[in-house]
Formats: sequence, C-alpha cells, structure tokens
Amino acid sequence: MIVNERIVDYINTLGKELPPELLSLEKEALENNVPIIKKDTQGLLSFLLQVHQPKNILEVGTAIGFSALFMSANTTPDCRITTIEKVAMRLVEAEKNLNDKRFPNKDKISLLKGDALVVLKDLVQEKKSYDFIFLDAAKAQYMAFLPELMKLLQQGGMLVTDNVLQDGTVANSRYSITRRDRTIHARMREFLYTITHSEGLESVILPVGDGVAISYKK
Ligand code: SAH
Ligand code: MG
Repeated sequence: MIVNERIVDYINTLGKELPPELLSLEKEALENNVPIIKKDTQGLLSFLLQVHQPKNILEVGTAIGFSALFMSANTTPDCRITTIEKVAMRLVEAEKNLNDKRFPNKDKISLLKGDALVVLKDLVQEKKSYDFIFLDAAKAQYMAFLPELMKLLQQGGMLVTDNVLQDGTVANSRYSITRRDRTIHARMREFLYTITHSEGLESVILPVGDGVAISYKK
C-alpha cells in the first residue's frame, strides 16, 4: 500500500458495492493470490469509463477475467472489450469465467491467447484501433509494449496503466533496490519518464492502488 491504510480503507467505504457475482469472483481471486485491481483502482477505472464512454477497449493482462468483467459492467451495451493473456493456468480460469452465465455483460468480451507483444503486433497488422487501453501485465515489459500500444490507441483515447509505483519503491534510489529488482525498477522509471515526456501524450501518475498512470492521446 502506498497511501496511508486508514485513508484508503475510509475511501473504500464510500465506494460503490460490486454486484454479487463480481464480489464473489473478487473474493475467489484474492483467496488464490491472483493480483486483480484493488478496490480504489476499481473506483478510478469505473469513473474513467463513465466519463470517457469508450466503445473499443483493449486490455493487456486478463488473469482470470475480473477486470474485464468489471469493465463490461461499467460500459455502454455497444462497447467491446478485447483482452490478452498468455499463462495457460490463467487462461483456463479466464475462459470459464468469461463464459459463465452469472455475468450479464460477458458477451462484450473476447479473449486473445498468447504473448501480448506478439498479439499486439498482430492487432497493429490488422489495423485495429482502440479508444481505451488498460495495461495490467508484466511490468518489465511495459516499455516494450508501449510503441505497439501507441499505434493501437486512437487520438483522443486513453491509456490506463496499473502497478506503476511498485509499492512505492519506484521512488527509491536505484542503489537501495536489490540487484534482482534493479532491471524492473529502471524499466518502470523509463516507462513513466516516457509517458510523461512524450509530445503526443498528456499523462498523470496517481498513487491509487499500486500506482496508476493515466495517459490521454492528444
Ligand atoms: N487485469 C487483471 C489482473 C492481471 S494480472 C485484473 O485486474 O483482474 C497480470 C496478468 O498478465 C497475469 O495473469 C499474467 O499472466 C499476464 N501477463 C503477463 N505478461 C504477459 C504477456 N507478455 N502476455 C500476456 N499476458 C501476460
Ligand atoms: Mg494490476
């Protein structure tokens, strides 16, 4: 947790209740240590979706489908969501959940299997474009994904990136970071520097959940 726990707990008491089917999927994810979006991140995401009203969402990092199903519940009926996952075990759970009749908006979602970098390049080839991208996969790869994501993001579109502050350690000096974590520390700093200094983007980094960056393509 980056922000004082008491404050986050308080803010979360003000948040909307999840519908029962999403609440039980959230519980299942937490029990199995699946790193799904935190409560405060859910609030931010739902706010952004209401304001921006996207019609074509791309998600990188499905896990078991929680955030995709969450987005499906917070978008207009004509919105479509494409989500990418590569890990076999996660894909089994994701397919099960994304086909589960409990979730009334599941038909908005299509699951693409494979390594995101490869799938993103395919989507670029197919000239696909999106007005909202939720990036929530392996942090070390964010920098590698970025050029493809920029090609896929429409002008006026929004890129929302999760887990950018790594429990706050991204702010620490590189010398205080264990050798094992130095590459990821450097890569995340490079990613944050790039999105905040690129001509075509307006970005803001928020200490919400595990750190969320919001970028608007001008
Ligand atoms: N968005 C989900 C959580 C995603 S956790 C939610 O909030 O409900 C991150 C997921 O990204 C993991 O399941 C991991 O397997 C997947 N992932 C990591 N690197 C990936 C890659 N290169 N290609 C596809 N999926 C990847
Ligand atoms: Mg995340």
